[in-house]
Amino acid sequence: SMYLMNDRFVKDDEVTISIEDRGYYFGDGVYEVIRVYGGVMFTAEEHIGRLYESAEKIRMTLPYGQEEMIDNLSRLVTDNGVKEGHVYIQATRGAAPRVHQFPGEAITPVITAYTKSYPDDAPAAEPAKLKSVADIRWLRCDIKSLNLLANVMAKQEAYEAGCYEALLHRDSTVTEGSSSNLFGVKDGVIHTHPVSNFILNGITRRVIMQCCEELGQPVQEEPMSLEDVYSMDEFFLSSTTNGILPVSEIDGRRIGDGRPGPVTEKLMEAFEAKLPEPVAT
Ligand code: PLP
Repeated sequence: SMYLMNDRFVKDDEVTISIEDRGYYFGDGVYEVIRVYGGVMFTAEEHIGRLYESAEKIRMTLPYGQEEMIDNLSRLVTDNGVKEGHVYIQATRGAAPRVHQFPGEAITPVITAYTKSYPDDAPAAEPAKLKSVADIRWLRCDIKSLNLLANVMAKQEAYEAGCYEALLHRDSTVTEGSSSNLFGVKDGVIHTHPVSNFILNGITRRVIMQCCEELGQPVQEEPMSLEDVYSMDEFFLSSTTNGILPVSEIDGRRIGDGRPGPVTEKLMEAFEAKLPEPVAT
């Protein structure tokens, strides 16, 4: 399959990254993951919009515009024959001798993208178990940065406890997952952390909020405490790769009866109705 390298489409053995790439040295860059449903990228404009916002927040100027970026990624999806899968794209500040301050104007960002196709026989995801983990990340979690060490450590801690995802909390205030946003349902009201520097403003979260508005489903964008989440009637997480994923357990405590609840199911249905129609083949 083909890869995008800056503005060129290349085969895998033609992808070259410098040992001095600032992504490699510092995690100095930003990224996105865009889901492909039926051969079509879902919410590509929102993802690429957020990529450029993240880049701007770290004072990095990408070498070409959003439309061209989307065109390049669409071409990658088509040429690689992706039906169900995703596109990964990252941009680093470029390759230069290792000093922390930005390199000069002559150094340009390094963009790479690839596609991943999911197997046809992938089973439907089971409700997830979560483990609470202290959120030790920096204070700019609104930036989708390549610096994911705290997220990696949290996810590993969850995995080692037999859980699918970490439920991150700052001083008992629940923020988000290691790579997902979190939602609780109590007495018919959805609770989720407000958009701030403490969470990534998830694209899936935005679609869910839109669904809630259309369904007249009440949402309270107020942080939940760790104590609150254990007694929620329903709980789910959201991400590009998982869509809406019901949660059955948090720290070994069962949520509801462990099966997806009515609010979660209603939202999953509304979410699915927004996915692109498969392109004819
Ligand atoms: N929060 C974090 C920290 C993430 O890394 C992600 C995505 O991977 C999300 C939330 C969910 O965002 P999105 O729905 O845009 O995939």
